[in-house]
Amino acid sequence: MFKALILNKDADGQISASITEKDDSFLGDEGEVIVDIQFSGLNYKDGLCLNGKGGLIRSYPRIPGVEFSGIVAHSQSPHYQPGDKVIATGWRIGEVWHGGYAARARVKADWLVPLPAGMDCRQAMILGTPGITAMFALEALEAHGLNPQSGEMLVTGAAGGVGSVAVALLAACGYQVAAVTGRIDEAGSYLEGLGATRLIPRTELAQTISRPLESEQWAGCIDNVGGDMLGRVLGQMAYGASVAAVGNAGGLAVPANIIPFLLRGVNLLGIDSVMQPFERRLSSWQRLADQFPMEKLEIIVTEINLESLAQYGKAILKGQIQGRCLVCL
Ligand code: NDP
Repeated sequence: MFKALILNKDADGQISASITEKDDSFLGDEGEVIVDIQFSGLNYKDGLCLNGKGGLIRSYPRIPGVEFSGIVAHSQSPHYQPGDKVIATGWRIGEVWHGGYAARARVKADWLVPLPAGMDCRQAMILGTPGITAMFALEALEAHGLNPQSGEMLVTGAAGGVGSVAVALLAACGYQVAAVTGRIDEAGSYLEGLGATRLIPRTELAQTISRPLESEQWAGCIDNVGGDMLGRVLGQMAYGASVAAVGNAGGLAVPANIIPFLLRGVNLLGIDSVMQPFERRLSSWQRLADQFPMEKLEIIVTEINLESLAQYGKAILKGQIQGRCLVCL
């Protein structure tokens, strides 16, 4: 038997969560690897699932939680043995498949990554989906010419999960990092502690303007906000610079115009962490283990448990979580 948070839908379409004990049969028979989960995380997407929003979960009952780290208990895959430490992110775990808000999961071997050398399961899940997403974003920007000599980097939604990890990662890689946040008073010194060299109030970038171009300010951007802010940032990018579009915390529709692309050769790069193939995830996790400043994880983390997920799941949808919530199983 193992402990799990389970979402159910009632006849009126209301979603409710309960914490209960289940046996392995609840996990079904798809997937070659059973993992004893040690840690999961809380992402914006998890907040949507926990609150019955976003339409991400189509079938109930469902164990949510889009990521986990833990130890292989049973394996029918030649690639994993009992005792191996593994990480799972993406592949619609916690949406289409049972996820990380339980002490056990059953998943396909292809979805797992062995824990990289130099990282433990706790560190892996403080980084979690935000960590690997920030690394994918940095690698996409580098593939389009970015390096620490290019100039100042911009990170939007900086005090959130992806933003916090992105700020610390970029700073550790030698970049000057300007952090955009809606809560400078509460999170300013936190962001400076992660390595931000400049703080920008969200209000400075929240207004759309009619001019298609502003002065060239940013050598690159990791954007977690989308919406009006992304439209504005595109007009502030330096010649040939790229924006990695990661998230939509500020909205879906982007009021952009074509001029930054035509006159400045700006690139807008889509970042997806969910469907990345194994080899790509493997190399990016190892680079995180090698280059992320692990001591910064203790600034970023808040430890929570299954019982407190209801409270934190509401807070993340309101943009009230600073850094990363680590769910300890
Ligand atoms: P968080 O909620 O932890 O962080 C989002 C941050 O965005 C907030 O902390 C806040 O930062 C800022 N923000 C929130 N609301 C607004 C608003 N209305 N206007 C401007 N800024 C706002 O979420 P995550 O870090 O987990 O995820 C960030 C985004 O990235 C989400 O949209 C998520 O879905 C997406 N994502 C995408 C992935 C991919 O594969 N492409 C993977 C992971 C996440 P502050 O307080 O500093 O202003």
